[in-house]
Amino acid sequence: MNAIMNTESQIDKRYTLDVDGFRSQMLSWYCDNARKLTWRASFGLCANPYHEWLSEIMLQQTTVKTVIPYFEKFISLWPSVHDLAEAPVEDVMREWAGLGYYARARNLHKCAQVISREYGGHFPEDENELISLPGIGPYTAAAIRAIAFQQPATVMDGNVERVLARLFIVEKPIRESKKELKKCADLLSENRTDQPGDFAQSMMELGALVCTPQSPKCDLCPVQDFCSAYTNGEQDNIPMLPVRKKIPVREGKIYFIRNNKGELLFERRPEKRMLGGMWGIPGSDWDNSKVVAEGIVFKEGEGTYIPDFYVRHTFSHFHLELKGYVIDIKTYPKSDFVGMLWYNVTEYMDLGLPTLYQKAIRQYVSTVKS
Ligand code: SF4
Repeated sequence: MNAIMNTESQIDKRYTLDVDGFRSQMLSWYCDNARKLTWRASFGLCANPYHEWLSEIMLQQTTVKTVIPYFEKFISLWPSVHDLAEAPVEDVMREWAGLGYYARARNLHKCAQVISREYGGHFPEDENELISLPGIGPYTAAAIRAIAFQQPATVMDGNVERVLARLFIVEKPIRESKKELKKCADLLSENRTDQPGDFAQSMMELGALVCTPQSPKCDLCPVQDFCSAYTNGEQDNIPMLPVRKKIPVREGKIYFIRNNKGELLFERRPEKRMLGGMWGIPGSDWDNSKVVAEGIVFKEGEGTYIPDFYVRHTFSHFHLELKGYVIDIKTYPKSDFVGMLWYNVTEYMDLGLPTLYQKAIRQYVSTVKS
């Protein structure tokens, strides 16, 4: 890598950037190049706050392509925040199935209820009020304020952080340079009342379409002349990558509990555990510490191991490997099945299972003969 200055004088030089010229280039590029997304308003217009909020929550850790059908389904089922607030939480969780990070869905529903009951269905414009709502952090609050209310706000997602790191040639991995990047972002956005929503989206869109993680398309970039990484030929080296930590593997057991009608037993996962509130298949804790199905405690060694049956799934911070067992039950006292459900294995999609359990069922159906 070429020598990169990261001294006071380099940082001072950033403040000489022609912010008006930069913003004007970005807005004009965005006007011509923005993708048409269901939740997005046309250039120069404010987005619907409900749509903006819903899309931002869905887009956390999730790609635009994945979110589009979910967003459209939610809007068709629940056209307003009042409709979403009145929906049973089980229905919201079921429609969220497959998007992952399920705490988002529970908070989404709670937040809709607060907006509906306490704010008459209108999202507040104030930053502190927005941040006090369930599931809304500083990023989402800034996005709602800028994009739905045209308030000056610094909106910084992963795409914007990468663009900023290159524009201002920040010589550290992104997670170690948040404060510095925020300073750069403020320089471009703070107190700017000229189209804050379009400008925020132009930065995100540049990161998504042009200033991509690998091989940025600098030849197509509207702000090439402002970019320090490009000027120094460092666009492929910035942002610097963090040292990768090995992701741990957790192990556990999964129990396909069958009755004599060939149905499987499903359980509602406890709220405070991962995938909380979703339907799942009983099993051990994911550190193999104890063998539990809510309401039923099996003795170690109970159940028949299915040879070579492993369900593998990767979460953001660990790999999970579940060994599969089959248990046939003929009679069981009814009271042991609170929060549990016998369900025909061919109709499991109706339950809105998270991806881990969808995988497990597919594997069970293709491997195990009844
Ligand atoms: Fe990104 Fe290249 Fe544009 Fe710089 S010139 S902002 S590296 S696309």
